[in-house]
Amino acid sequence: MASLRIGIAGAGLLGRLLASSLSGRGHAVEVFDPAHGPGAGADPRSESASQAAAWTAAGMLSPVAELERAGPELFALGLRSCLLWPGIVQGLQMPVTLDFQGSLLLAHRSDAGAAQRVLSLLQARAGAEHQPQSLTLQQLAALEPSVHGPALAWLLPGEGRIHTIEAMQALAAQASLQGTRWHWSRAVQEVQPGILKTASGTHRFDHVFDVRGVGARPEVPVRGVRGEVFWLHAPGVLLQRPLRLLHPRYSVYLVPRPGDLVVVGASEIESEDRSPVSLRSTLELLSAAHSAIPALAEARLLHSESNLRPALDDNLPLLSQAPGMTRINGLYRHGWLIAPALVEQALQGFAA
Ligand SMILES: Cc1cc2nc3c(=O)[nH]c(=O)nc-3n(C[C@H](O)[C@H](O)[C@H](O)COP(=O)(O)OP(=O)(O)OC[C@H]3O[C@@H](n4cnc5c(N)ncnc54)[C@H](O)[C@@H]3O)c2cc1C
Repeated sequence: MASLRIGIAGAGLLGRLLASSLSGRGHAVEVFDPAHGPGAGADPRSESASQAAAWTAAGMLSPVAELERAGPELFALGLRSCLLWPGIVQGLQMPVTLDFQGSLLLAHRSDAGAAQRVLSLLQARAGAEHQPQSLTLQQLAALEPSVHGPALAWLLPGEGRIHTIEAMQALAAQASLQGTRWHWSRAVQEVQPGILKTASGTHRFDHVFDVRGVGARPEVPVRGVRGEVFWLHAPGVLLQRPLRLLHPRYSVYLVPRPGDLVVVGASEIESEDRSPVSLRSTLELLSAAHSAIPALAEARLLHSESNLRPALDDNLPLLSQAPGMTRINGLYRHGWLIAPALVEQALQGFAA
């Protein structure tokens, strides 16, 4: 196919995946975003941090665990993306932490009833190939010696994690190397087939992608769902894989990152409030994390952060295509899990 002029509104997860993929195929790509630069978001403590949810995400790649709240469409997208991520990461010049050593579901004995309800859902929805594997306490100790307390544990083989900040930086760097032009500090006010409108004028392309997340209103009826995460510095706590604690009142997960970091998340609140994390979320999430890994008591709380997940009414992703325009939105709490498969579908539909 001849080289096309492509305009992308939004430099979040989808925008960077699209830019890297399309510029790699020889298209002339331009990306517009109100963030001040490609790294605005890499340091969420900075005043000019980007609002992309992708920076805040813990990076769980959990097609099976997410079946508690998701159906077969999401499951299929998640499984496909877990196959696609290694190839994407290998094609990037900068390193990105990505592994698929499985994830663990944990529960305290007192919460066995609630845990069993979740387990039954996963067992019914996951199919024979992806069943959770029950672990003895000895097996759990061999896999994750830092975990003490939960009496019940299951391994979800094949699940993984990606370092979201490394991936955001590496995708942008790759797209730049391949000739992508970035228009930072430039919000797109309107998206039409072949047209992106900004305060500086009308920009014309052969095809445009609208991937503005919660910024796509009013064209897309998207809402923001608040989520809060914590970064702990925990030398001595050696976690190999993501953990999820099944609890009747709140759900908490822990994702290890290089540098002795553990990301603890995430609240899920029907609110578009981007203000700092609440005392309640701090107490609930960190108490739950400590109950599974007592050694976290001496961890240092480096940072806390809140952001909005872009979600539609049905909490399912939207991929709509028309001549000259593609919209993708509503990735909700599963963006890193499903984005590669959605981008693959979008590019097949657009025959790029
Ligand atoms: C606390 C939290 C934890 C999460 N954890 C996980 C997880 O563990 N696993 C997982 O799979 N997913 C997780 N997610 C979800 C994931 O981050 C999102 O689904 C994903 O980032 C959505 O990607 P996106 O590109 O659609 O939107 P975003 O990443 O939000 O990017 C949207 C981009 O559009 C830009 N934009 C906005 N308005 C405009 C405009 N007018 N013009 C141009 N650009 C604009 C923004 O600046 C931003 O750069 C989490 C999210 C949160 C908040």
